[in-house]
Amino acid sequence: MTDYGIQIPILGSNADRTIKSLREDPELAASEPQWLIEEELPKLSRREIVRVHDEAYTDRLLAASRDGSGPCETEMQRTFELVDTDGRNHRYEPESARFNLCELRDQSLRLAGGTLRGAEIAVQNPERFCFYLGGGMHHGQRGWGEGFCPINDLVIAIRALQAAGSIESAWVVDVDAHKGDGTAALTANDDTIQTVSVHMADGWPMDQPRILSDGTPNPSFVPSTIDVPIAAGEEGEYLFRLQNAMEQMEDRFGVPDFVLVVDGADPYERDQLPSAELLKMTAAQLLARDAYLYRWVRTRAVPSLFVMAGNYGYHSWEVYSQFLAAQLKGELEN
Ligand SMILES: [Zn+2]
Repeated sequence: MTDYGIQIPILGSNADRTIKSLREDPELAASEPQWLIEEELPKLSRREIVRVHDEAYTDRLLAASRDGSGPCETEMQRTFELVDTDGRNHRYEPESARFNLCELRDQSLRLAGGTLRGAEIAVQNPERFCFYLGGGMHHGQRGWGEGFCPINDLVIAIRALQAAGSIESAWVVDVDAHKGDGTAALTANDDTIQTVSVHMADGWPMDQPRILSDGTPNPSFVPSTIDVPIAAGEEGEYLFRLQNAMEQMEDRFGVPDFVLVVDGADPYERDQLPSAELLKMTAAQLLARDAYLYRWVRTRAVPSLFVMAGNYGYHSWEVYSQFLAAQLKGELEN
């Protein structure tokens, strides 16, 4: 049995493995109450979702479960690419699933609710460093889900903070292996939210057709404020190019009220998602990336939330564990 019957190395226990590794560190075990907040995740409300997604899509996604064939199931099948062009199940075995697709939807809404909760904690406690062990649904588009992301938790969290009057401006800094295409499209006409995406120059989502089957432009090609495509073999340039993008952003926009970092683990050479194979960064390169972004927000005293993203397979937790252990031991301060 599997949880959802989906044959992709997703929805794993990377959050649990990360926490376990930190708990097993003798230097960190005793101070756990100071570094770990465990809360039940609040499910996002329709009101929070429609600040970002269109109402018709939201209603289809939130529809009640209907024997595997209702609008919620259809939207989730599309989001997780579970049906091939001939209408057959694709890397999906519903008979082996413990939970149905609407329960997967509910789990996604809870994980996205956690991003909002983490963002609230981050702006209420600007002196604290905040990392949420979930979230990062950066492919969600206005009217459909895509790339395992039924909604875009990042833009939803930022718009909720703006609606509450907690912040005005925000940046999304996305260092997942895949372009933050949903985030770029959803914020393209919103001057209050700026986006940086450092991603594989080739492969999904950049290998899709530029025009969709209905004749409209594919929103995956809407540019971020700054896009930094990295070609295979250019891993050694990654940090320099990220630094350059952040310097350009600060020159153009100053420092925002809030930074959301989409801290993808899938550029890691030991990540197991085939579509992230064009980037193969070492653990040391990823620690340098994370340490740079950590110092960027901390030296400017910008409230920020780092979220997990793109962590596939059995080794992704190593990326988070090394960064969080170094942060908690004070090794990133200088
Ligand atoms: Zn990814």
